[in-house]
Amino acid sequence: MQNSYDVIVIGGGPAGCTAASLIAEAGRSTLLVERESVPRFHVGESLMPECYWSLERLGLLERMKNSKFVRKKSVQFVTASGKESAPFYFEQHDPRESSTTWQVERADFDKMLWDRAGELGADCVDSTRVLDVLFDDKGRATGVKLRSDDGEVREISSQVVMDGSGQQSFIANKLGLREDIPNLKKAAIWGYYRNARRDEGDNAGATVIMHTLDRDSWFWFIPLSDDITSIGCVGDSDYMLKQGLDSEARYELELERCPGLQSRLEHAERVGKIRVAKEYSYWTKQHAGDGWVLIGDAFGFIDPLYSSGVYFALVMAERAADAVIEGFARNDLSEKQLGSWCDGFKKGSTLIRKLVEAFYTKEFSFGGFIRDNPEFQGNLTDLLIGRIFYDGAENIFDKMDPVVDQARSTSVAS
Ligand SMILES: Cc1cc2nc3c(=O)[nH]c(=O)nc-3n(C[C@H](O)[C@H](O)[C@H](O)COP(=O)(O)OP(=O)(O)OC[C@H]3O[C@@H](n4cnc5c(N)ncnc54)[C@H](O)[C@@H]3O)c2cc1C
Repeated sequence: MQNSYDVIVIGGGPAGCTAASLIAEAGRSTLLVERESVPRFHVGESLMPECYWSLERLGLLERMKNSKFVRKKSVQFVTASGKESAPFYFEQHDPRESSTTWQVERADFDKMLWDRAGELGADCVDSTRVLDVLFDDKGRATGVKLRSDDGEVREISSQVVMDGSGQQSFIANKLGLREDIPNLKKAAIWGYYRNARRDEGDNAGATVIMHTLDRDSWFWFIPLSDDITSIGCVGDSDYMLKQGLDSEARYELELERCPGLQSRLEHAERVGKIRVAKEYSYWTKQHAGDGWVLIGDAFGFIDPLYSSGVYFALVMAERAADAVIEGFARNDLSEKQLGSWCDGFKKGSTLIRKLVEAFYTKEFSFGGFIRDNPEFQGNLTDLLIGRIFYDGAENIFDKMDPVVDQARSTSVAS
């Protein structure tokens, strides 16, 4: 580790590793710091097809294709009564290689990104925690204070600090920028199963989203390699964690209340403990400042429903890295320059957020939405693929926006 870098990136998740890779590749001295020992466990296994382009830019497509990660070609929904929708096959909508994506063990996936950052020239240091981000008296970020696992504390200076610290959201917490999303106070309880029944053929690697009775909660079903399936339950935080049941009992009860899971779990056994994540949805009211910028979950996280988290982390990291690289070229590392990409990103992500909120109203269904608004079927599939950040997308989503609002308010009213 040097005493000074052009850029310090906090967090060795998808956001931090991507940003560090691109900035180091552009020739800037870069330090990537991760508090845990790499590889480390993480939730968030299902990718969106549009991750393809970031992985291509990082030079990782061949590694992904040669990996053991399960191929994901579709998403499927199962109603509270157990009725299975026709799968949304990404390739039917867009017959390109990029329409097949992956279900990943995050420890392995994130390690691959971490290694890539090192290959492209970043100094990657794990088992080292950022204790503080340092600012000068004008509010410009000037570096970080670190502590390694052996107890050594150091201050390292930089011209830019990129915060990819995930849910810890280091800078936003320090500066009081975090805002809860009031109607998304959710919690998730999940575990891993061996020998859960999967479909055959192209739907075998699908993410399946299944409601429980009365739509009180929903399950994700994510097939991983070695016949392991990630099975997680999401519901209102109060319902999941505060009704006199411990998380294990709540999870078991919701499993029984999920018709879609019964035949899938007939011959399955759980491996390992269950895990809990609570109140993970939030946004930030400022995303960049002089010499700093937020990326990935540190910027905000909506909901696991459409598997948008890793994809958003990659997109934000790319855009922020480009803004930083351009900022060095222009000698402008101001808030305006480092946050120049944020409005475009927020526009695309807002529609995802609205569709998440619509899903949580009791009556909304994708089938019903498409029946009532068939002209938007393709656009809806675009959203499930993650194709929301292309030129012209705004016009289409501006047209779709009031229709989604209408569907949400009708659902709430009924
Ligand atoms: C229940 C649940 C299910 C999800 N399912 C999906 C899914 O199926 N698909 C999907 O795409 N997304 C999913 N997500 C979201 C996904 O997990 C995140 O969006 C994604 O990991 C964000 O990547 P990131 O790089 O921003 O943050 P992370 O992946 O969280 O990486 C941040 C890193 O920063 C490190 N760090 C934190 N503080 C410090 C510090 N002080 N010093 C040094 N290092 C630090 C952490 O150890 C961590 O490794 C899910 C989220 C939840 C809560």
